[in-house]
Amino acid sequence: MSGEEELVGQLLAHARFLGSLSSIGVPPPAAPSATAPSAEAAPAGTTAADGPSLETIRETIGDCRRCKLAAGRKTIVFGQGNPRAELMFVGEAPGAEEDEQGLAFVGRAGQLLTDIIEKGLRLKRAEVFIANVLKCRPPQNRNPEPDEIVACQPFLEEQIRVIRPKVLVGLGKFGAQWLLKTAEPITRIRGRVGSYQGIHVMPTYHPAYLLRNPGAKKEVWEDMKVVLQLLGRRVPG
Ligand code: SF4
Repeated sequence: MSGEEELVGQLLAHARFLGSLSSIGVPPPAAPSATAPSAEAAPAGTTAADGPSLETIRETIGDCRRCKLAAGRKTIVFGQGNPRAELMFVGEAPGAEEDEQGLAFVGRAGQLLTDIIEKGLRLKRAEVFIANVLKCRPPQNRNPEPDEIVACQPFLEEQIRVIRPKVLVGLGKFGAQWLLKTAEPITRIRGRVGSYQGIHVMPTYHPAYLLRNPGAKKEVWEDMKVVLQLLGRRVPG
């Protein structure tokens, strides 16, 4: 593809993204200024050197006020990792640590996710991409509410479209239900491979649940073995 075709493709993708905002009643954001940086620094994996597309999404989010969570957050947690990742994890929402640092999955649950990735899947954390259904912390870590999920939805949709991983892992009820567009409980859908826009989806337990229920790690490991198969990688014996 020539540079010109690529640029046209990116502009069309951005137009589709803005169209998806207006289709759910979200007013398109003001165009970012060429000189003013966005309100939050771009997290790792979203620099211009990684390609303009994730950068464009981050600029579009700007200092987002599209739902009521904006009032209580410190930082928008865009998600981070490899913009060309074959494997992408989708969790629920930032917690206190994530809100402080502006990075997804950096608290105790984040450490457990790192173990799952590095000790279980034998990948580097920087090789995958990690994001959440919501980019702002709900107060007292309460569950996401439907209007918040709808308001934030176009951002995650566009991140997945740009990264186009081979496999998505939905972590916990909200990540899994969002990807599979289902209201079935996580206990019923866990371990059953589904599909999001033609991409394999593995729903599994959230690391925070595993901290409270370590016995469920066995099931998550079974799920991760299937993820390795879907990625075409060797499954450790
Ligand atoms: S949760 Fe999403 S939609 Fe709501 S303010 Fe944050 S970035 Fe915007």
